[in-house]
Amino acid sequence: MERGEIMKRRIVSIMLSTAMVMSMTGIASAEATTEGASAAAFTAGTYTGVGTGHNGEVKVEVTVSDSAIENIVVTETNESSGFGEVASDRIIDEVLTYQSLDVDGVSGCTISRAAFMTAIQDALTQAGADIDALKAVEIPAKVGEERTIDTDVVVIGSGAAGMCAAIEAAYAGAKVTVLEKLARNGGSTRMSSAMLVAGGTKLQEEAGIEDSVENLKAYWLERGEGNVDEEQVNFVAENINDALDWFIDLGVNYNKDLILYSGTADVARAHMPVESGRELMDRLVEEAEKNGVEILTETPALELTQDEDGNVTGVIADDHGAQVTVNAKSTVIATGGFGWNQDMLEKYSPDAVGTWSVSSPGSTGDGITLAEAVGADTVFKGGYIGWKVASPVYDQSSAIGAPMYGAANLVVNAEGNRFGDESLDYPFMFEDMVKDGSDIFYFIFDSGDKESKDLVNNTSDTVATLEAGVEAGVVTKADTIEELAEALGLTDLAATVEQFNNSVDSGVDEAFGRNTTTMAKIENGPFYAMQTKKATLGTFGGLNIDLDAAVVTADEEKIPGLYAAGEVANGEFFPKIYPASGSAMDVAVVFGRQAGRSAAAYALGEEVEATSEAVTE
Ligand SMILES: Cc1cc2nc3c(=O)[nH]c(=O)nc-3n(C[C@H](O)[C@H](O)[C@H](O)COP(=O)(O)OP(=O)(O)OC[C@H]3O[C@@H](n4cnc5c(N)ncnc54)[C@H](O)[C@@H]3O)c2cc1C
Repeated sequence: MERGEIMKRRIVSIMLSTAMVMSMTGIASAEATTEGASAAAFTAGTYTGVGTGHNGEVKVEVTVSDSAIENIVVTETNESSGFGEVASDRIIDEVLTYQSLDVDGVSGCTISRAAFMTAIQDALTQAGADIDALKAVEIPAKVGEERTIDTDVVVIGSGAAGMCAAIEAAYAGAKVTVLEKLARNGGSTRMSSAMLVAGGTKLQEEAGIEDSVENLKAYWLERGEGNVDEEQVNFVAENINDALDWFIDLGVNYNKDLILYSGTADVARAHMPVESGRELMDRLVEEAEKNGVEILTETPALELTQDEDGNVTGVIADDHGAQVTVNAKSTVIATGGFGWNQDMLEKYSPDAVGTWSVSSPGSTGDGITLAEAVGADTVFKGGYIGWKVASPVYDQSSAIGAPMYGAANLVVNAEGNRFGDESLDYPFMFEDMVKDGSDIFYFIFDSGDKESKDLVNNTSDTVATLEAGVEAGVVTKADTIEELAEALGLTDLAATVEQFNNSVDSGVDEAFGRNTTTMAKIENGPFYAMQTKKATLGTFGGLNIDLDAAVVTADEEKIPGLYAAGEVANGEFFPKIYPASGSAMDVAVVFGRQAGRSAAAYALGEEVEATSEAVTE
C-alpha cells in the first residue's frame, strides 16, 4: 500500500482512554504497629498531604499522636493502572511499622512511590515533624527465603502473555507457578489500553459492522509487505475472536459503541475494555488464582536450568538475595519487550535509541538473554511501536495529553518546521520524527471554529483541555503566533503557519502532499503549543517460536520444555512499522494461550495438540 493511499484512510488512534482516569477514596489505610521507635514529636491531629502521580494529584490523610504516626489513609488517587496501589500499600505499611521515611523504591512503581512519599511528607511537615530525623530511621532490608519449588509449568512474566499461558496450563490440569520481577503483576499490559483488533466478532455484528477473519488477515499481510510470517498472522487472526469471547466470559467489559478504527484499515475492529489494561489484568489474575496458579512477585528469573539431554528443567530465580530454585517440566518465557534496555535497542532497534520508553520498566529483554543461553534462535527486523505522545513535562497517560492522541493538525520540530504529513497513523509520524532528528516536537493549536474543524480530538473539548494544560504549566499559550514562537524558540513557526494556511486555501500541500481537507487553518488566537517527544510503547523482535509457541533453535528444532509468547517472541509476526493498535495484544494473548496449552501437554506427557495443523491446514 502506498503512503498516499494510507493517508486518505480514516484514522482513529486512541491509545489511552482518558475516561479511565479514576478517583478513588480510601483505597489504602493501616493502623500503626510501631516496631521502630518514633524519631520525632508531632502536633497531634489529622493532616492532608498532596503529591503528584501519574495522572495528577494524590492525597493522603495522616493522623499523628504526640509521639507516633498513627494512621495513613489515601483519600484521592488518579492512578488507573493499579501500580499506585502497590506503592501506597507498601509505603504505608513501612512508614507505620518502622515510624520512618527511609522507604525504599517499589520496583516498577517509581512515580507512584514518589507521589505518595511527597504527600506523606507534606502532611507530616504540617504536623511539625522533623522530616530529616524520620528519614534517618533505618528500615531493615528485606531478606528473601532460599527455597525449592517443584511445579509442572513455570511461567516467567505476568503480563497478558504470561497470565494467559498460566491459566490455559492450569485449565489443562498442570500445577503452575508464575515468576514476576516487579512488585506488581501485569507489565506493559496493565499500563495499556488492552485494545484487541479482531475481525468478524460478535460485538462487531451487534454494532452492525461488517468484517471477517479473512479481512484482518489480508490487512496484516498487506501491511507486512512480505516481511512477516504468514502462518503466524493467520494463526493470530483465526484465534483472537475466541480469546475475546473468553475475556468477555471472564467479566471483562467491552463497549460495543466503542469499537474503533485502528491503523490504516477502513473498518472499525479495535475492541477496548472499558477500564483498559488494568481491567483485563485484574480479571486474568483472578481467574489464575481461582485455578490454583501461584504468582510470586519481586522474584526475577535469573537463568534457565537444563539436564544433560538439553531439556529445559526450570528456572533459578531471586527473592531479595535468596536463591529460589524452580523445578518445572515446562517453562514459558513471557517477559515482554526490551524498550528499557539501551544495549538491546542499539543492537536490534537502533531507530528507537534515545526515545522515551513508556512501556513497563520490566521490559529489559531478560527472556531473550535467558533463552539465548540455552540455544534459542532470535528474529529481529529493527521494529517497535513508535508513539507520538510523551513528554518530560506531563505524564503521557494523563488527560492533559488527550488533544494529541488523535489525528494531528499542525506539528513542528524544535525550529518550528513541519517534518511530515501529520494526519498519518502514529507509527508513521514516529518514523517522520526519527528522520527529522529533532529531540522535541510541538503540537500547535488555535482556538477557533472547533465546531466544524476539531480535527485533533473529537472525544473531548480540546480548548478546555489545553487550558487545563496551561494551568498545570505544561502547555504554552500566546495571543499571537509570533509570541508563541518567541516563548519556545521556534524560529520558523510564523513562516510555517503561513505556508500551512496557504496550503489549506490552495488545496495543495506542496511540502508533504497531505490531503488538505484534513487540515484546518491556524488563525484564531489564542494559540497553544504542546510539547512531545518520540516514544515507544513496545518493541518487536526476540525469540523465534513455532506455531506451538515452542522456542526453536537456528535449525528450527524445538528446545524441549521451552515455550515463549508475547512481546518477547513477536519478531516473526511484525514488520518494522506497527500495523495497527491492538495487534501487539493479539499476539500476546493468542500465543500466550497456545504456550500454556503446549507447556501443559508437554509437562503432563500428553500429545501436544497440533494447533498449527488445525488452523492452517
Ligand atoms: C501505554 C501503553 C499502551 C498500549 N496500548 C496497547 C493497546 O491498546 N493494544 C495493543 O495491542 N498493544 C498496546 N500496547 C502494547 C502491549 O501492551 C504490549 O505489547 C503487551 O502488553 C505485551 O504483553 P506481554 O505479556 O508480552 O508483556 P508485559 O505485559 O510487558 O509483561 C511482561 C512481564 O514480564 C516481567 N518480567 C520481565 N523480566 C522478567 C524476569 N527476568 N523475571 C520475571 N519477570 C520478568 C515484566 O516485569 C512484566 O511484568 C501498549 C503499551 C503501552 C506501554
